[in-house]
Amino acid sequence: MDKTLTKGCEDFINDAKLDALAALPQPDPQKVRDIIAKSKSLKPLAVEETATLLAVESPELQEEIFETARELKRKVYGNRIVLFAPLYVGNHCTNDCAYCGFRKSLRSAVRHTLSNDELVKEVEALESLGHKRLILVFGEHPLYSPEFMADCVRQTYAVKKGKGEIRRVNINAAPLDIEGYKTMKAAGIGTYQIFQETYHHETYKKVHPPLSHKADFMWRLDGLSRAFEGGCDDMGVGALFGLYNWKFEVLGLVEHSLYLQRKYGVGPHTISFPRIKSANGLNDFDTSHFVSDAEYKRLVAILRLSVPYTGMIMTARETAELRREVLAFGVSQIDAGSRIEIGGYNKQGEQELNREQFKIGDSRPLDEVIKELVDNGYIPSFCTACYRKGRTGQHFMEFAIPGFINRLCTPNALTTLAEYLEDYAAPETKKAGLALLQKELEKIEDPKVREAAGDRISKIQHSDLRDLYF
Ligand code: SAM
Ligand code: SF4
Repeated sequence: MDKTLTKGCEDFINDAKLDALAALPQPDPQKVRDIIAKSKSLKPLAVEETATLLAVESPELQEEIFETARELKRKVYGNRIVLFAPLYVGNHCTNDCAYCGFRKSLRSAVRHTLSNDELVKEVEALESLGHKRLILVFGEHPLYSPEFMADCVRQTYAVKKGKGEIRRVNINAAPLDIEGYKTMKAAGIGTYQIFQETYHHETYKKVHPPLSHKADFMWRLDGLSRAFEGGCDDMGVGALFGLYNWKFEVLGLVEHSLYLQRKYGVGPHTISFPRIKSANGLNDFDTSHFVSDAEYKRLVAILRLSVPYTGMIMTARETAELRREVLAFGVSQIDAGSRIEIGGYNKQGEQELNREQFKIGDSRPLDEVIKELVDNGYIPSFCTACYRKGRTGQHFMEFAIPGFINRLCTPNALTTLAEYLEDYAAPETKKAGLALLQKELEKIEDPKVREAAGDRISKIQHSDLRDLYF
């Protein structure tokens, strides 16, 4: 591995500055309302402005922030929710991250890497449920070289089960060198996701013991910059909430987004905000920075206001109940029907924590999640069109380009939903889904777009034609 950092790489996280911003006193209500107004005009917020929103304690102003997040979601970002599933390929790991059920020193962890046949079976199982988008997840280990991971990606795309296929493979794995990212890009990956875990240097050091690869804060912080330079222009940032002050981590995420935007003219494609969940060997973990549900809601809403052009991912680490509520604050992607044991999609039964990274909060099957989304007026989407049409990086913003949603996103969401309803849905889900399809189709204002979308849906319903995207 070439351990060179990108040219001009800088440590853009100033702990003292962010600590001070995370401790601002209650702000003047007018200042808060001015910032809210700015976010409504879809301008990214500065770190200082985000800090002002984080300092809001008054329930009334907090409700205004929540309402703005809901409003941005409803009016600007539409009612689509993109669905995906994680596919854990291997949990061997040379790192010893204090919070993780895969860490090296945990002797009770059962380790396994999917063989090629097992990978095929996992992908077939996921396709049989209706999934089209996966994220492959790996520990950090010499076994998981860029070439190995790229082979897994190619194999995943090659599996076709019935009418099923995987159309987008994202990655969550260790940071690579530029050559490594080129190898991954050549295999056709979508987003490369790296969570910084914590942006606070001292905490980072505490939870990532020296001598492990992951102990190198700058190597990780620069990881997505190298990804960009290696040709992966869909980058996913994230922080693991619960390691340090949650307000600091939100500011770190915003700093990171602004840095990528400044340096490459492209912000992150997605932001993830997982919270630490119980895991094998985590009994004595320091919980002093754990984030309550109330704080979690605030952080999601504030992120929505701060980074208007970035997709937001909320995973099944959270419970169904919380996901239902937080979805309205501008989340754009969720996983559903997730199994995180290696080989879990071909296994029945409860989670066995010594084989998994953490405990998941929402273990409902995909169809149940889709039915609930439909019942609540969301369009479940398996759309993968932008990345396949080359609408990535700076040409692509998941939301909010005027006309883009109506012309492309909604029709693509509807055609992929139509596929799901024809090929995989339970009868009740199909019934509710078809009613939603009709309603949403009628809402498309441009008659040409409405007709084209209706035509494709009809082809899907009356023939074997699939994958008809705009
Ligand atoms: N090994 C790669 C790495 O560390 O970058 C892949 C990441 S890991 C398999 C995916 C993410 O899960 C980590 O980046 C971390 O944020 C999160 N994670 C680890 N332990 C967790 C826990 N106990 N609860 C919730 N999330 C956890
Ligand atoms: Fe390994 Fe990733 Fe877990 Fe750390 S978070 S122990 S690097 S799998």
